[in-house]
Amino acid sequence: VKEYLGYMYAKRAEPSGICLPIIPTLLMMILCLLSSRLYVKEEVHDVAVLYDVFLTLYAELSCCSAGCLRLKFDEVVVFDNLETGYIEAVHPKARFYQGDLRNRKEIDDVLDNESGIDAVIHFAANSLVGESMVNPLKYYDNNVYGTKVLLESLLAHGIKNIVFSSTAATYGEPLQTPILESDPTVPTNCYGETKRAMERMFHWTEVAHGIKYVSLRYFNACGAHVNGNIGEAHNPESHLIPIILQVANGTRDHISVFGTDYDTEDGTCIRDYIHVTDLAQAHILACKYLLAGGKSDIFNLGNGIGFTVKEVIEKAKEVTGKEIKVVYEGRRAGDPAELVASSDKAKRVLGWHPEYNDLGTIIATAWKWHSTHPNGYKKGN
Ligand code: UDP
Repeated sequence: VKEYLGYMYAKRAEPSGICLPIIPTLLMMILCLLSSRLYVKEEVHDVAVLYDVFLTLYAELSCCSAGCLRLKFDEVVVFDNLETGYIEAVHPKARFYQGDLRNRKEIDDVLDNESGIDAVIHFAANSLVGESMVNPLKYYDNNVYGTKVLLESLLAHGIKNIVFSSTAATYGEPLQTPILESDPTVPTNCYGETKRAMERMFHWTEVAHGIKYVSLRYFNACGAHVNGNIGEAHNPESHLIPIILQVANGTRDHISVFGTDYDTEDGTCIRDYIHVTDLAQAHILACKYLLAGGKSDIFNLGNGIGFTVKEVIEKAKEVTGKEIKVVYEGRRAGDPAELVASSDKAKRVLGWHPEYNDLGTIIATAWKWHSTHPNGYKKGN
């Protein structure tokens, strides 16, 4: 996900089924705008995958606390302006609304129509470091202003819980590795700055109005749904793993490596790559946490292992069995040298257990998508 755009709303309906009189049903609604990638595992329930702009979500969530409370997200509503997303990626069982985060009426209309919403998941931010450095006002407009409009609408509709896609870019150059949530946030790029501003907006809105939030700071979201049918499709593509795999599948000539003079073992940037399914799972857990009365908080989501750009390319060669042409270039503006997460807090508090902690497996899931969908969601693959 890096991100992302969207929200997911959960609404509580009446208990369903005579056999399960104490089981509440939640209806989830997702609004998406940008680039986040997230999906939930099929085993969980035919979940949805959200990718960048997103998609999905269909999940069934069970939690055992006093008396086995079971939460079932059996209705999903997606709101997306389709600026970077694809209708083909929306789960067929989801109700879809096309609209823009910055348009108060469009959001109000959805919330008026979908009554009883308990929680929102917000994936709707622009998310590209490089773009944010050349077009910062786009980021303030959609990320900051768009979130303000959303919060106004949530307040007007009495919705009190929100889960939010934040980013490791809020930290800037870290003081220590792995990075803790309590470490300073001094972003080196406009994207991270706007995500930090959104986090602060959630904080002060809670102080004044009581809307609770969970901010999930993704490290490098990557991978694709294990079924190979939902994956990243950006235009233009700017993320490392998709670009490498486009070289492998023949739709791109080479990968440009941005910077070989960083203070790392081979001079290229180090990142912590985390699979979208694991990210998706964290969102479900975060919803569950808020609905169970958890306090507002911030959590890192990463595997805790750093790979250089060169290491990722070598791993992709191994997984695909293809030659990958590399061209070395200068640094990309705004890139910190190293971003690796400590996710101990998410594991401890949310009960999060990422399953895709092997880079080869992560790239293999992405390769299944890219090798079978060289044109993304367009017909003709
Ligand atoms: N990168 C690169 N060439 C590319 C795309 C990315 O060398 O074509 C590098 C980028 O500079 C960063 C890392 O790969 O160090 C991951 O970049 P990406 O855009 O995938 O994610 P980010 O770290 O910006 O969130």
